[in-house]
Amino acid sequence: KKNLPVLFVIFGGSGDLAHRKLYPALFNLFRKGALQENFAVVGTARRPWSDDYFQETVQQAIVENVNAVDRDLVDQFSRHFFYQSHDVTDENHYIELNNKIEQLESQFKTQGNRTFYLAMSPQFFGTISQHLKAQNLVTDTGYNRLVVEKPFGHDLESAKVLNQQIGDSFAEKDVYRIDHYLGKQMIQNIMYLRLTNPLFDSIWDSEHIQNVQVTLAESLGVENRGGYYETAGALRDMVQNHIFQIASQVAMKKPVSLTSTDIHQAKQEVLNSIQMYDADDVNRFFVRGQYAGNDSENSYREEEQVSPESTVETFVAGKLLFKAGPLQNVPFYIRTGKKLAQKTTRVDLVLKSSHDLFEQNQDNVISIEIDPENKLTVTLNGKQLSQTDLSSLQMKFAYTKDEVAQIPDAYEKLFYDFLIGDRTNFVHWHEVKTTWDFIDRIEKTWQEDAQPPFAYQNGSMGPNEVSRIFEGTTDSWVFKG
Ligand code: NAD
Repeated sequence: KKNLPVLFVIFGGSGDLAHRKLYPALFNLFRKGALQENFAVVGTARRPWSDDYFQETVQQAIVENVNAVDRDLVDQFSRHFFYQSHDVTDENHYIELNNKIEQLESQFKTQGNRTFYLAMSPQFFGTISQHLKAQNLVTDTGYNRLVVEKPFGHDLESAKVLNQQIGDSFAEKDVYRIDHYLGKQMIQNIMYLRLTNPLFDSIWDSEHIQNVQVTLAESLGVENRGGYYETAGALRDMVQNHIFQIASQVAMKKPVSLTSTDIHQAKQEVLNSIQMYDADDVNRFFVRGQYAGNDSENSYREEEQVSPESTVETFVAGKLLFKAGPLQNVPFYIRTGKKLAQKTTRVDLVLKSSHDLFEQNQDNVISIEIDPENKLTVTLNGKQLSQTDLSSLQMKFAYTKDEVAQIPDAYEKLFYDFLIGDRTNFVHWHEVKTTWDFIDRIEKTWQEDAQPPFAYQNGSMGPNEVSRIFEGTTDSWVFKG
């Protein structure tokens, strides 16, 4: 890989995300040569750390999170890291930060390319980006890019305010909104699979596809994030971003080309066509649940920092309909939740039955497993060995263990993308806007609804009431847990 000169400022440089994901991603790019001598990182956070101490924490992050590291290389890598203690609301700190950046720019010859990465509480995103402009950290030399973590707003209104604040300092083309699902191998593979194989391309339409199922199931509970989760819930935490990003890649029309602009255009077109729900629709097509514990495990309400009367949903299932694109009016059944039977992220496309000459002709299903497996399974009909009956056959493709080990982490892929200025796998403002609009209507109905979420047992696949979303159809979940 070629050398990409850049200076990073990581806001929240002492945080969990920085240690577990961002520094390992940078290290892997360094190891592969995309980052060489011309890169430097300024980490900022409130604590008064020295550069030496910061470099030690970076080294530790690499040793703990990256396999088979060469200690010399880690030392060499960490010498590109510097620390600035920083209070995000203090003007003077931005001036000091800029002085430090200028000094490092000349030391590391980073050609004026600046990337500001906001890896801290979203409440500061607006303030930081405004100060970056006001205190002249956004310059005319090289590029100036802003990378923002999720969540982007709490609802449409707050997302608009945030976008306005960011937009005052950075053009949309320089804003990279992270949805780390877009860096996952099998999600990126969806486009390749559907657009390069006549076998799939020719059936990717409402004539052949009966329904699409998107499952983001977690086996863990809220762990130590109860405080945050109480303000979010499964719908905001997973559906507004990850599920919509996956669904729109499945539902969009073939993009005119593979440029980022054309792909975003295709995604936006299909998202714009989503059937918006009124209160009645929400009650028919969406079901929320909350984990109620079991013999050995807590219920959600017993978790730390969670109200004992909380009505926050830890599970949601629903039905989406797009009114445009090749899969118009094909039901998209979606679900996500915590404390479910198994951790799995997958997309199942159920095909319509082709004919009825045979008894027990089963549906063909295309299953794309994203996590923890990287696997494609096509369920077909065929002849049983010794009889004339039909039998279900499975055609499987899975990357080998060695190949899986080679797959770069989502963050590494996304870092490389924004270093080369490729916006394809980042979220456009239009996508944020449309999806919040859809989510807000559901939240509003739920707030006005006296009925709390349905209870479900830890280790199940959600409340029994979920089957309601299939009403009037013969559809059911492919993955049963
Ligand atoms: P964290 O609480 O571990 O880290 C927050 C960082 O911000 C720390 O470095 C802290 O010192 C700094 N900070 C807080 N208040 C400050 C202030 N007033 N002035 C200066 N610095 C301040 O948080 P995290 O888990 O690393 O998450 C960071 C961001 O990434 C959030 O937007 C979160 O939603 C997002 N995110 C995190 C994860 C994850 O796995 N941790 C996953 C997805 C998204």
